[in-house]
Amino acid sequence: MALAPNAVALIDVTQQRARLYRVGAGLGVALLVLFVSPFLFAQDFALVAIAFFAIGAVALIVLALCLLRTITCPNCNLALVQYAFANVAYGKWLSWLLEVKECPSCGRSGNSPGARLKAV
Ligand SMILES: [Zn+2]
Repeated sequence: MALAPNAVALIDVTQQRARLYRVGAGLGVALLVLFVSPFLFAQDFALVAIAFFAIGAVALIVLALCLLRTITCPNCNLALVQYAFANVAYGKWLSWLLEVKECPSCGRSGNSPGARLKAV
């Protein structure tokens, strides 16, 4: 399907860019909490260190799964981040995700009729 040169990225049409950034920020905080725990352990705050490690690890797993599964095509529910990890060249998944204008599975684009309606 030929797209207009000014076609909008699928992630913007479906208003999922903000979700991507929120989950990314959460992953950063979870990593920070996880990496602080050994320093707390070294300072004899063992229980606090264990709690930080557990909270950071659980948050990291939950947010990673959220990132993989919740950014989807509004038409066919293809998990776009998971698709990008599996099919896009290593290191280019994020730029692909931010620029893709058409669902690789069903072909739904930002300019397809009803795309905005289904995204809400
Ligand atoms: Zn699709």
